[in-house]
Amino acid sequence: MPPKVRFAPSPTGYLHVGNVRAALVNWLFARHQSIIGAGGHFLLRIDDTDAGRSKAEYTAAIEEDLRWLGLDWDSEAHQSQRFERYRIAAEKLRAASRLYPCYETPEELDVQRKMLAGRGQPPIYNRAALKLTDEQKKKYEAAGRKPHYRFLLGDEEITWDDLIRGTTHFKATHMSDPVLLREDGVPVYTLASVVDDGELGITHVIRGEDHVSNTAVQVQLYKALDFAVPQFAHMALLKTKEGELSKRLGGNDIRALREAGILPMAVNSLLARIGTSDAVEAFLELRPLAEGFDFKKFGRAPANYDVAELEKLNEKLLHQLPFAAVKDRLAGMDETFWLSVRGNLKTLAEAQQWWDILHGDVSADLNHEERTFLRSTIEKLPPAPWNETTWDAWIAAIKPTTQRKGKELFMPLRLALTGQGHGPEMKKLLPLLGHEKVVERLKI
Ligand code: GLU
Repeated sequence: MPPKVRFAPSPTGYLHVGNVRAALVNWLFARHQSIIGAGGHFLLRIDDTDAGRSKAEYTAAIEEDLRWLGLDWDSEAHQSQRFERYRIAAEKLRAASRLYPCYETPEELDVQRKMLAGRGQPPIYNRAALKLTDEQKKKYEAAGRKPHYRFLLGDEEITWDDLIRGTTHFKATHMSDPVLLREDGVPVYTLASVVDDGELGITHVIRGEDHVSNTAVQVQLYKALDFAVPQFAHMALLKTKEGELSKRLGGNDIRALREAGILPMAVNSLLARIGTSDAVEAFLELRPLAEGFDFKKFGRAPANYDVAELEKLNEKLLHQLPFAAVKDRLAGMDETFWLSVRGNLKTLAEAQQWWDILHGDVSADLNHEERTFLRSTIEKLPPAPWNETTWDAWIAAIKPTTQRKGKELFMPLRLALTGQGHGPEMKKLLPLLGHEKVVERLKI
């Protein structure tokens, strides 16, 4: 069977860097499999069973963000359209005596947990509901109580060979029977996810380490429902420097990064490599990341997500980006301009600033002596056509006529011509400005 993976976000908010890492790693695995000729399918599964919290606008936003990142999916499933499948699966469990009704209220369960904690015992459900007689159940229902349903865990030890964590063991006797159906009959994630993985043929479940205990119960659930148990890979969690992040780039959701001018491949380059033995590098395309993908490279320690590293990658990428890749976002700007300024940008938005500097008006605070000097340089301007050698030729012609040298010489020129004390190399800007504008700006 060709490997099939899924990314399964709940549409209760925007994608953040943690979700995106899960999406990306699943995608890279699937595409790696295709590259080596083994097939490989990436399913986008929208976990929207919770009607109260799920919103269509978040589903649309998730799809848009994945497209922006370049993470295309081969198929899509929505849990809200599969309730009948979950009902049938629950029925099957009930028929096999693996699903039982429980009538405890949340408050009663809370009291039980506190009592256990008081005795220094773990908060494991006591299975009292298993001992209820039909009469007692009827009484509860007559009193208006609706049951929720729990999965009866088997006693056997749970083991799987995790592709990142290695052999992982759980004692089922140390866990609570998980609730699979809520009081209102809605299946919870634990069940829905297993039914989908099983019926949609998921071969590898790749997700964060926070799901390890879910996996333990789900392993028994796949078996109880006669599904093949997929392989698992649990990634160590992402450690973010929250404070710094929200301050500098407006939060760790992917939209905020996009709005702050971060390129999708900066996000992908960072998230594909942090927490692995490969060095973080700036990639212009996803393909080389997919080619080199290997679970063996993933470490067990939390992966450090550092926004300063993201900004550095973003800068490196900007400096290499061909015009075609940014054209759509640079309304009215041309390739010569882009190639002249890209090496100096921190964000794409700065390209617009330089365009405005070259084409709009600039002002510089220069004293009388500097203005006199600037005017004297006009007659030294080389004749057209101008190119990248013009600046040096001009400076060489000015030098013998002035005492100024180094910064004293070129800073008034830069200030008068751009209004800025720093920026792209003047030899690149000068031909972009052209003779007429240069003369006009030197006459301040
Ligand atoms: N909807 C779940 C989540 O966002 C999916 C977890 C999984 O990959 O199974 O945590």
